[in-house]
Amino acid sequence: MKVAIYANEREHSQQVKEQLELKLKEAHIELDHENPEIVLTIGGDGTVLHAVHHYLDQIEKVKFIGIHTGHLGYYTDWLPDELDELVQFLKQKQSRISQYPLLSIMLCEDKTCHQLYAFNEMTLLNAFRTQHLNVTIDDLFFESFRGTGVCISTPTGSTAYNKSLGGAIIYPSLKAFQMTEIASINNNVFRTIGSPLIIPHEQVVTLKSENFSDVTITRDHLYETYQNIEKIKVTLSNRHVTFVKRRDVSFWGRVKDHFL
Ligand code: NAP
Repeated sequence: MKVAIYANEREHSQQVKEQLELKLKEAHIELDHENPEIVLTIGGDGTVLHAVHHYLDQIEKVKFIGIHTGHLGYYTDWLPDELDELVQFLKQKQSRISQYPLLSIMLCEDKTCHQLYAFNEMTLLNAFRTQHLNVTIDDLFFESFRGTGVCISTPTGSTAYNKSLGGAIIYPSLKAFQMTEIASINNNVFRTIGSPLIIPHEQVVTLKSENFSDVTITRDHLYETYQNIEKIKVTLSNRHVTFVKRRDVSFWGRVKDHFL
């Protein structure tokens, strides 16, 4: 089996990385950062996000295991003092997996469309002026939005930025995605639905505007500012991120431990 280690820059994570490299060598487990079967992340959930984007091209072939050196993470099951156990675990057949879908973002500008993906969420933000958006769900024109922007998240991302925006926590096995508003303007002239929308995976949200200048699109930790977007189509993709499960952990238990 070939494994890669993807650690954040923090001193503790780098120390754990060195220890793990030694233990993998002793156990004759090959390190391959180009074509790994398993990626061991060392850090927090933010590190997992970075690793997912790093290995996005081969996401169908790669499985992730998270070691958390930060706060108890959503994607990170192992502690730094469990490295020996983890190496033994790697030597066994990895049959128990969890799969989480990626968000599909089709961004069209100047007659060219780019296929992008996010694991937690995408946001469309305008820090400089009120952003207007025409929101369509499938073929239905739904609303005319004015405000800072919107956040569209996967079920796994529902506990991240989405939650800070008052969005619901979505159970990971539900095939749906969610759109939450970011500082919408609501008065006698402008009106938006105001509630987060939970949308089934087969539907598509299209965002259009007569003025997309200076708009920022974030995808997880990545961001870019655009001037000439024509439209953005968002849905749940059929590509997944795969994690090797250590044990069956109750999702609601994890939510409770993390937030309460
Ligand atoms: P980061 O510092 O790595 O992540 C920000 C925080 O979000 C960290 O505490 C991270 O946990 C946590 N997190 C990430 N994914 C999560 C998930 N699925 N469920 C629960 N918590 C999660 O910052 P970054 O590298 O820029 O990461 C980008 C992420 O930050 C975005 O995907 C977005 O969800 C989040 N974010 C949140 C807000 C907000 O809540 N106002 C604003 C901007 C961005 P760890 O400490 O374990 O890494």
